[in-house]
Amino acid sequence: MTNNELWQSVLAQMQLHISKANFATWFQNTQISVKDNERVVISVPNAFSKEWLSNKYYKLMLKTMHDMDGSIKELEFVINPQASNKLALNQAFETEKIDAEQLKFDEFKINKETNLNPKYTFENFVVGSFNELAYAAGLAVCENPGHSYNPLFIYGGVGLGKTHLMQSIGNKIADDIKKRKVKYIPSEKLVSGIVTAIRSNTMEQFKASLAPIDVLIIDDVQFISGKTKTQEEFFHVFNSLYEKNKQIIMSSDRPPNAIPELEERLRSRLGGGMTIDVSLPDYETRLVILKTKLQEKNIQLPEDVLEYIASNVKKNVRELEGALNSLLIYQKINSNIANLETAKKLLKSFIFSPFDVANYKKIIESVAKFYNMDEKHLFHETRRKEIVRPRQIAMFLLRKELKYSFPAIARKFGGKDHTTVIYAYKKIQKEVEDNSKLTEEINLIKQRVYSG
Ligand code: ADP
Ligand code: MG
Repeated sequence: MTNNELWQSVLAQMQLHISKANFATWFQNTQISVKDNERVVISVPNAFSKEWLSNKYYKLMLKTMHDMDGSIKELEFVINPQASNKLALNQAFETEKIDAEQLKFDEFKINKETNLNPKYTFENFVVGSFNELAYAAGLAVCENPGHSYNPLFIYGGVGLGKTHLMQSIGNKIADDIKKRKVKYIPSEKLVSGIVTAIRSNTMEQFKASLAPIDVLIIDDVQFISGKTKTQEEFFHVFNSLYEKNKQIIMSSDRPPNAIPELEERLRSRLGGGMTIDVSLPDYETRLVILKTKLQEKNIQLPEDVLEYIASNVKKNVRELEGALNSLLIYQKINSNIANLETAKKLLKSFIFSPFDVANYKKIIESVAKFYNMDEKHLFHETRRKEIVRPRQIAMFLLRKELKYSFPAIARKFGGKDHTTVIYAYKKIQKEVEDNSKLTEEINLIKQRVYSG
């Protein structure tokens, strides 16, 4: 693998983790200047870049390179102001520049009134068994907003198309001749809007501004967890729209009953209509998604390459797109289409990711995050239900996913008698059999464990 190829894969990976605008800022005019055995020297255009890249992205870059070439153990950054003006790499940034411009253009295209991005439509939304219920409910809502499924609550892991689907619903309704007023609000925006309104004593105006809306779409509503004041106001906003038969559509990474620190009356409102999940697309659907994306971009790739991606990149749709994009960047730079062999090399970091392997740390981290608690509290000996339960689930997962022995788990949890662990394991095991809410929670935690 050449230095250029290696760097391209790093760039492709980085694109998945940072916004396009940031990507263009931090990675423009960077390249590998030297690669000796264990060390790779990356040249960057200025001190600012050096600082930023080495502080924020060192680990991720090293991991990506190490995945591609196991001998790489260390990275170094050097400042080279004239870097790369004449290098082939710059062509990548030609593409990037176009993309950055495209991005601005996309932002520009975001409808000021509705906040919707017109690129998300039902036409480019692929339907398979993983999302067909959510899709059908979405269409039903378009037919008769405010009446069929209200609220419509869509949940599932990242990159599975929740935003795409909700925006498609919004766009379809907004384009309808009935001229209904649609508003898309990411929940961070909703939260900050409410917080500002509370502070400046303008809650009434804030509510009045939402009153004319016919369809309110709130993305990633789980972020409202723990924010008591905001929840209270949101509850009132919700009610006043709901009572007037206005449609409310929400997404979250989990169902309402699994959102921690949510006021009970709001929880029951959120789950009071239709709650549907989106899961992972199967192989056939992944292939269709890849082909749809290629068609949109009007580009071709060999069938065996597509099959390779579809059978190996399974995490979510966003990763599928990322894998595809890294091949397209390669194609732009080298002016030839990646064959299967090249694809395997370029996609190594998508496929053999150590992120896909569960480990102790990830289980503890995921359980604590899921239940919105400090990791160290998992190890507290207490009878408080909100701690006992997550701790038992952590024990259960350590046993089930990592095959830890009961005494080993007991040692991790402060040398408890291992019969306590056996008890926890059996208890959760049994409950999973007849409690679908718990099964669901455990599945969502597992999804996090396995998706880094
Ligand atoms: P989420 O909101 O669940 O995290 P997004 O809606 O942001 O996921 O989807 C991530 C990317 O994958 C987007 O670029 C989106 O267009 C694409 N995508 C997701 N699901 C589909 C699908 N069913 N058909 C086509 N593209 C999809
Ligand atoms: Mg989303």
